[in-house]
Amino acid sequence: MRKTTIGFLLLCAAALISIGSPSGSSQVFNYFEGGRKPDLEIVKMGGGLYLAKGEWGANVGFFVGDDGVFVIDSKTTAGATRKVVKEIRKITSKPITKVAFTHSDSDCFNGYDVYPATAEIICSLRSRQELAKGLWTFLEMNAPSDIYSSGPTSMPMPDFLPAVSFGGQLNLWFGSETIELFQYGSAHTSGDVVIRFPARGVAFIGDLVFVHHDPLIQRHKGGYSFGLVTTLSILLKAQPEIRTFIPSHADPIDRDELGAIVRSIEEIQAKVLAMVDEGKTLDDVKKAFQISEAPKAAGNWVWPRLAETVYQELTERRMPEKMPTIERRDR
Ligand SMILES: [Zn+2]
Repeated sequence: MRKTTIGFLLLCAAALISIGSPSGSSQVFNYFEGGRKPDLEIVKMGGGLYLAKGEWGANVGFFVGDDGVFVIDSKTTAGATRKVVKEIRKITSKPITKVAFTHSDSDCFNGYDVYPATAEIICSLRSRQELAKGLWTFLEMNAPSDIYSSGPTSMPMPDFLPAVSFGGQLNLWFGSETIELFQYGSAHTSGDVVIRFPARGVAFIGDLVFVHHDPLIQRHKGGYSFGLVTTLSILLKAQPEIRTFIPSHADPIDRDELGAIVRSIEEIQAKVLAMVDEGKTLDDVKKAFQISEAPKAAGNWVWPRLAETVYQELTERRMPEKMPTIERRDR
């Protein structure tokens, strides 16, 4: 059932139009910079593809096809998503016919009910399962907590399940454009979807990447850092080549930037693996990576650091004696 849309923001910041430039210094959106949210900005990616960044929440992508508009994700609030729809209406009168979500986190999902009721809503089967369980989400940006009702570390889950879900690959022939949706495996969550526009060398990658910040592995949603490296490595090898990767919470990045991010994750994994092999404890790992407990207040990035997550992943798999085992049952 579609929930009633509330909290429409009357503020009407003028939207800016600019030309996308994937190369150059990538920017993480800082919601506290200047003490206000960034203006909504519509970036032309070329060939009918646009990126709506700024306002509250994740980047929203949209593609104006021959007969309709395909949208990727929503903003965090209905009000912010409504502003995006208003900008789409300035660009085209074609209806929004399909909306695909990169994953189940509420910061990219909560504005879903602003899209037309007739639009087909698509996500991965695993994301749909996560939504059905109502799993909480780490706050994925340093936005003020007062836009979330449940505190600084989590957000309310949408009361909604998409009608269409898939596993593996889903191809959409959207007018003359082919759009490919891939669900490779557990990474940021268990159900992350990469949305590729192969003719344009562009992929929307949701929360697989956080620029200048540790990746977030939502372990309670089945996220897995080694799966993240696998997925990102597949993207770098994909043909036709993907040249521009669009994360949810930063400006687009290029192949070199993504390659550097993958290497940095692998370096942390290797260092933690060596420490686990030496019998080091989680406290040793935290000390080595200078991890201290960050105060859980608005404006802080509150999720666990990658080294901590990797340690948990490795030790869970390396110490089966701490769990009920078949050998024990046989005795
Ligand atoms: Zn997320």
